[in-house]
Parts: sequence; C-alpha cells; structure tokens
Amino acid sequence: MQQNVLSTSIEYLKGVGPARAELLQKELGISRFEDLLHLFPFRYVDRSRFYKLNEIRSAEAEVQIIGQITHLEEIKGKGRNKRLAARFEDSTGTVELVWFQGARWIKGSLKTGKDYVLYGKPNWYNGKYSFPHPELELLEDFKASPLQGLQPVYPSTEKLSGRGLNSRGIAKLTKTLLPQLKGKLNDYLPENIHSDWKLPALEASYLEVHFPKSLERLEKARYRLKFDEFLFLQLELIRQKNIHRHQFKGFAFEKIGDTFNRFYEEILPFELTGAQKRVLKEIRRDIMHGAHMNRLVQGDVGSGKTIVALMSMLMAIDNGFQACLMAPTEILATQHYNGILELTEKLPIEVALLTGSIKAAQRRLIHEKLEGGSLHILIGTHALIEEKVQYQNLGIAVVDEQHRFGVAQRAKLWKKNKLPPHILVMTATPIPRTLAMSLYGNLDISVIDELPPGRKPITTIHRFDTNRLQVFGFLKEEIAKGRQVYIVYPLIDESEALDYKDLMDGYESVVRAFPRPDYQVSIVHGKMKPEDKEFEMQRFVTGKTQIMVATTVIEVGVNVPNASVMVIESAERFGLSQLHQLRGRVGRGAEQSYCILLTGSKLSNDAKTRIKTMVKTNDGFEIAETDLKLRGPGDLMGTRQSGLFDLKIADIARDKSILQAARHAAIDLLESDPRLEKAEHQAIKNRFNQKTKGRIQWSRIS
Ligand code: ADP
Ligand code: MG
Repeated sequence: MQQNVLSTSIEYLKGVGPARAELLQKELGISRFEDLLHLFPFRYVDRSRFYKLNEIRSAEAEVQIIGQITHLEEIKGKGRNKRLAARFEDSTGTVELVWFQGARWIKGSLKTGKDYVLYGKPNWYNGKYSFPHPELELLEDFKASPLQGLQPVYPSTEKLSGRGLNSRGIAKLTKTLLPQLKGKLNDYLPENIHSDWKLPALEASYLEVHFPKSLERLEKARYRLKFDEFLFLQLELIRQKNIHRHQFKGFAFEKIGDTFNRFYEEILPFELTGAQKRVLKEIRRDIMHGAHMNRLVQGDVGSGKTIVALMSMLMAIDNGFQACLMAPTEILATQHYNGILELTEKLPIEVALLTGSIKAAQRRLIHEKLEGGSLHILIGTHALIEEKVQYQNLGIAVVDEQHRFGVAQRAKLWKKNKLPPHILVMTATPIPRTLAMSLYGNLDISVIDELPPGRKPITTIHRFDTNRLQVFGFLKEEIAKGRQVYIVYPLIDESEALDYKDLMDGYESVVRAFPRPDYQVSIVHGKMKPEDKEFEMQRFVTGKTQIMVATTVIEVGVNVPNASVMVIESAERFGLSQLHQLRGRVGRGAEQSYCILLTGSKLSNDAKTRIKTMVKTNDGFEIAETDLKLRGPGDLMGTRQSGLFDLKIADIARDKSILQAARHAAIDLLESDPRLEKAEHQAIKNRFNQKTKGRIQWSRIS
C-alpha cells in the first residue's frame, strides 16, 4: 500500500490544490507525496524565544518578534523598485518589511492593527534593519498551534513564498501529510540490519526529521534516513558490478608478445615508476582471462598515464587486436599522436590520427585500413566513434581525461564489436581515496600514486592583479633563463563575449609588456579554427614563442616540458580541479616551476579556500577532498546523469562514515542473499525495485 500513498499527486494534499501543485512542481520538483516527505529541512531553529525590535544586533540570524503592521503600501516602479512595503512596530521600535514578489496576494492577506508574530532574517541596509519576505502569522493563530522547540527550515523560493509557501507554509503541508502516512510506511529494512546498526524505525525517523522532539532524536533520525539512501545506492552499484562480472565476456589477451617486449626493452626511454608497473599488472590480470575490463586509471597530472595506455594497447596488438585512444580535444589528440608515433617508430605497427579536420581522402584511407586490419592504433577525438568508423577487431579502447566524455559517447564505443572492447579510462581528476571504492563500486580502479623521479614540486603563489607588473617582471626573468610561460584566462561559457574581451585585452597588454622582436607571444582560444590553433600550439611546443596566452582549451593534457610558469588570471573564477589541472601543465621538466594565481582583491569565502588549498598543496587527492566538500559530488565524472547521486539528505562529502556503514550492510545483505529471495528481504527488494525502476544500466557504459 505504501506505494499508493506515496505516489499520490501532491495536488490532493489538503491545502495544495492545482495552482500550488504546479508551482511546487516547477520550483522544487515536488509532484507526489513522497517528494514532499523527502523535502527535508536544511536546518532547524529554536523558536521558543521572542525578540524586541531594539534587540536586533545582527543580520545573520533569524528572529521572532510580536508586533503590529501599521501601514501597508504597494510601491510602483520597475524591477526591484516595485515592491510591497509595510511598517511593523512593537513597543521598542519600527522596521520596514518588503516583498518583491506576490505583492498583491500578500497585501490582501495582511491586516493592519492586529498582533502578528513576525519571523525572518533582518537585512542591514542604509543604516537600518528591514525584513525582506518575512513570515507573518496572526498571534491568535500562532497561539492556537504554538511552535515549540526545534522548528524545521525548508528550502523555498521567492515565487513559492509569494503564494504563502515559505518555509512555514511548507512546514504546514508536511504537518498535514505526516498523519496521513501513519501506519502506511512499511519499514523495509530486515531486522538484522536494524539491530546491527541500531537504527530507529522508519516512520519515527520521518517524524523526527521534520518535527524533532530533541536534538538527540533528530540526529538518530537523520542517521537512519541517510543510511537508507546510501544503502540503496550501494545495493545498486554492487548489483551492477555483479551483472557486469557475470554477463560480460571480453577478449582474452593471452600472451605478451614481440611488440610489447621490444618496446619495453629497446624503446621505453625511462624506467617505469613502481606505480606504473603495478597498474600495468592490474590491467594485464584483467584482460588475460577473457573477463571484460572496465577500468578507471586515476593518476595525478604528470604521473605518466600515457605510457600505461600505450603499453596496454601494445598488449592488444600482440594478440591480434586493434586499439584506439580517444582524447577530448583536437590539440590533445594530435599531441598524443605525435608522441606515440615517435615512440613506436621502430615497431612494425601503424598508427593514425583521426579528428574532425582530417581531410576526406585521408579519412577514407584510414577507414579502409581500419576495416582491413592493417591499422593498429587509431588516435583521435569523438570522430573515432562515429558510425562510419568500423574496426576489424577493436580489442581495447582508451579514453583519456574522461570527464569530458558523456556516458552516451562511451556507450557508442561499446557497440563497435561483437564483444565489447576492454575499456581503460584515464583521469587526472582524482576521486578522494576514501570514497572511490564506495562510489564507483561498479568500476575497477587503479591508482598511479607516484610521480616520475626528479620532479620538483611546483611553487604556487597568490597575487592580487594590482601586482601584475611585478609578476610580468618575474616572467621576464624566467624567460631570460630560457623558460616558457602560460597565461590563462577564464572562459566559463564559450559564448561569453565579455570573457573574450578580457582575453583579447589581456593578450594586448601582454604583447605591450613583451614586445617583439625580443619576445614572441602565441594565443589560442576556442573560437579559432583548428588549424590555426594547431599552428599556434606548434609554435609554442617548438619554442618559437615564449608566452602562450590561452583560455582553458589548454587545460587538458598538453605537454611542453620547457614551460615552467603558469599564470592564471581571475583565478577566483576557476574551480579547484580546474586550477589543479592547469597547474599540471608546468612542472614537467627538470626546472623549478611556478604557478601564479592572480585574483581581484575581493574574494568569496569559497574562493579563498580554493586559493589557499592550491597554495598549500600539490596533492591531487587532497585537492579532490576539498573540492568535494565545496561543491558536492554532482560534477564528479558526469555521474549526475546516472541518477545515482539523487541524494536528498545524505551528503557524500560529509557523511563518509555512514556511507561506509551502509556499504558494509549492503555487502553483508547481498552475500547472505545475492538475489534477495528470502522472505525477510522481500520488502527491501520491493523498495529497491521501486527506486531503480526505469534507470539505465549504468555499469554497461561507464
Ligand atoms: P599524464 O599522466 O598527465 O597524462 P604523461 O603521460 O603526459 O602524464 O607524462 C608526463 C611526462 O612524464 C611525459 O613527458 C612522460 O614522457 C614522462 N614520464 C612518464 N613516465 C615516466 C617515468 N616513469 N619516468 C620518467 N618520465 C616519465
Ligand atoms: Mg595525459
């Protein structure tokens, strides 16, 4: 029965109706009873105390005041000037209340000369406090159902508040909803999980989360609901991994052959690091026996992922298969191609590059050789997975810097063969160690956690952009030593005209400060034609220019060992992982390298944390942890599409120990009953099916 009540349309909840239902759906995605039940308070306030107007000291905290409205006026005007203003008085003073939305509706519902309970956050403006969009309730109504103890604060929006659905309004709806669910929420957790993890009952947990009787009970209830969210997440991941293991066969690369051995003994220009060797072994173990490999290789920028990719591809070739390497940008694909071409020169294998700008005739030739099997390694961009591109027998597909690739594109790769090719995904965006296993339970993960020897840690410095001239002076010194420099501008949105203006202004000021013929300056950005980009890149790669002014097109993978300074303009506008990626463009040679973060003087708290973290550490994993805390997991590896991170109360960054407990419970559960066939597991199985209904089979394509 649970299903029926929870999936009832929110329209039918008393106090909602069609108009508010539509608004709730639009503003907060609430369309069924269950959605409202899962709209959790994001904090709680103690409303047992009343303030006087002359006691307000800070604009930070909500306060509760009894007083009267003495004047109400709709003020005409445009945009933000148009508002409803009210005067609110108590025995100690007067403040203004303002509403920018729903003026007419609110005006109609307020009465002057009556006692109200006002609740809201004061705003300090023009030397006075005012209350934007406060909650107001007639004192007599308030007394009829007084708020005691901890009160939930729900997310709302201006539009909803304009229709009486501010936090308090939503609390009323929830209060109406909960009794209707009484006795109908089937607690699906089996008894042993309850007792092992000391979890409170489901219905009680919902009650306590919305209207807590005490902090202690609230904490227990929150633990239970977070636990449940993580438990279902883990059950899904583990199930997918098991399906994968059992259902998908892959090609067996049984032997290590001549190509690999010759490369290893005669060509490889350096000793592999311990971590590289270990990861190669992990890959080899996967692909030797005919299980399908779906492996993620994480390694910080500069950790040497490319060579691992190449050697994995050589294993495929030795077993009579083809390989491909897909990169997110044309520049990077070209660079991989040049590098791999050089490394395989002495081997009897053929390598080709396929990108959007390869001419038709050449493209046709590549298609032919690919189908005929005489082409061994194909490197390129998305062009690699177009319908027309047919392989004779693709054995392994390497995807570099995969966070730029969508799930759907990887799915296309999958379909290239009778059997799916082995998939090796290389990423420099580390997932915090503690979380990787729990979150990507359906992928195998290898970590290259060691940099090649002799690298000096990059020195990172923060300067305000008013010190740009001083920074330019430093660049001149470095250039005089024969080094090269990147200067990167943010381009958050490719169509952002303002960002282009900044870039071009910046370029001109750089050219002025570094005049020809002593200096040569390159520029690369997303609006240039691919061949122009490539031309400018090559001038920089070959050392003809000393300075590369660019947008983030250079973010991913470019390798110019002689470049030792990375200047990032408006660094406060970049995310942490992006800053770390950009910094990774330097520090690739033997020289001391620098990363200079230029920012404006006013920084938000988050921006300060990002800059501080960058200055403090070069460790990608530490940076990933901080990033996760700042941003949440939504952006990690494009997982948002998967629906897996549709967490309403649990927080992956903050609730690690609960996540681990839930993972533990999920593993135990599936070990004791892999298909959830036992009678005592029917309830949880039903709930699981209900939650995952219609979801794509994520493990097949990630
Ligand atoms: P990333 O992991 O960022 O893709 P690359 O594969 O581009 O890193 O490698 C960065 C640089 O380090 C390249 O110049 C590469 O030749 C070099 N390199 C890789 N492995 C080693 C090693 N074991 N010893 C010395 N240099 C290495
Ligand atoms: Mg790389």
